[in-house]
Amino acid sequence: MKYDYIIAGSGCAGLSLLYRMLKDSELSAKQILVIDKSQKNKNDRTWCFWEKGNGLFESIVTHQWKTLEFLSDDFQRKFDMSEYRYKMIQGIDFYNHVLKVAKEFENVTFVSENITAITTENEIGKVTTETSAYTANYVFNSTSLFYPKMDTNNSLLQHFEGWVIQTKAPVFDKNVGRLMDFRLSQEHGATFMYVLPTSETEALVEYTLFTEKVLEKEQYKTALKEYIQNYLKIDNYEILHTEFGIIPMSLAKFSRKVPNQKNIINLGTAGGFTKASSGYTFQFVQKHTENIIQLLKAGKYPNPQVTFRDKMYQWYDRTLLEVILSEKLEGKEIFATIFKNRPIETILAFLGNESSVWEDIKVMSCLPIMPFLTSGMKQLRF
Ligand SMILES: Cc1cc2nc3c(=O)[nH]c(=O)nc-3n(C[C@H](O)[C@H](O)[C@H](O)COP(=O)(O)OP(=O)(O)OC[C@H]3O[C@@H](n4cnc5c(N)ncnc54)[C@H](O)[C@@H]3O)c2cc1C
Repeated sequence: MKYDYIIAGSGCAGLSLLYRMLKDSELSAKQILVIDKSQKNKNDRTWCFWEKGNGLFESIVTHQWKTLEFLSDDFQRKFDMSEYRYKMIQGIDFYNHVLKVAKEFENVTFVSENITAITTENEIGKVTTETSAYTANYVFNSTSLFYPKMDTNNSLLQHFEGWVIQTKAPVFDKNVGRLMDFRLSQEHGATFMYVLPTSETEALVEYTLFTEKVLEKEQYKTALKEYIQNYLKIDNYEILHTEFGIIPMSLAKFSRKVPNQKNIINLGTAGGFTKASSGYTFQFVQKHTENIIQLLKAGKYPNPQVTFRDKMYQWYDRTLLEVILSEKLEGKEIFATIFKNRPIETILAFLGNESSVWEDIKVMSCLPIMPFLTSGMKQLRF
């Protein structure tokens, strides 16, 4: 049987696309095959992102913050947002939510197999797994099969360990999300803590680094323990949940297209929707998958064009990453300068690819010119 669409990889991007298809009366009757090597039944990650107003996944937002906090050695500030809200979604809530809806559709088939190849033959997409082969008009891929080559010359790793901790006494302000606390040793590279309280007694505390290599497991745990004790001043707590993640922050070219394979469309990290300068992905995946839906409904080729604005944002990201990779400036210095000098709404619009050109200029103009100019010139040639 030939499917209308194969969704190869059912993580954030694959399931976001599936959900949008099933919510659309024109697309929900299509024959859809979803292939993933793993069952999505674990709370394997927490997604945070920012947006204005209510999003498609509003009903599963665990918590949201109107106030964000930034801390560095010489500067600490709480920012009240007017339109943006910083939101958190648990991985397991997202998987359950989408899979529950999908179960109601007989035209959606799930298989649990390891994909070994995705190709195009005679304008038909073909997915080969260890045990079978499947075809479709379009394959939407978010597996790592087409990842470009990454190494320490072109990439940093954003790696982190997060603990959801619970205290007996009320110690957190659930209205304030601590976005970045840079008051930590920067010996390994850009290093900060993230503290997101979901109640007065519960918070996600995450130790995050942008460096070439991951640390020893114990180092994350030691840093978290010390921070909780010395900065949050908490002695008694229970760890309810832990998560570890590595997100590529890369100058390597991730592309939504696969050369000469028109029927394969890359989504998510595979498609370049992990922002090179920050690792944020969720909000960019939502916009991309919504664009795909609009194109499918219009009967058009469902691979949204890379616009001039997209290219500008890619250039900004690449420039910033180049500055950090080449050690012209420390990540801490860059983020502290931006947060010290610009309003939060402008910063979030810029980091979320939603700014005006004027806002871009406002953010960039507060940074030292020379390192960004040389790195920017270098990345223009890419
Ligand atoms: C712990 C963690 C926390 C994160 N937190 C945030 C956050 O707060 N905000 C944010 O914006 N981003 C965050 N990210 C980054 C990003 O949002 C996630 O990595 C996101 O899941 C990327 O979506 P994706 O669909 O591209 O990849 P995934 O969600 O990883 O989905 C890819 C799917 O493909 C499947 N797959 C891979 N290879 C094969 C194969 N050969 N055969 C079959 N199936 C295959 C995998 O099993 C997986 O289900 C986080 C990442 C991690 C790891």
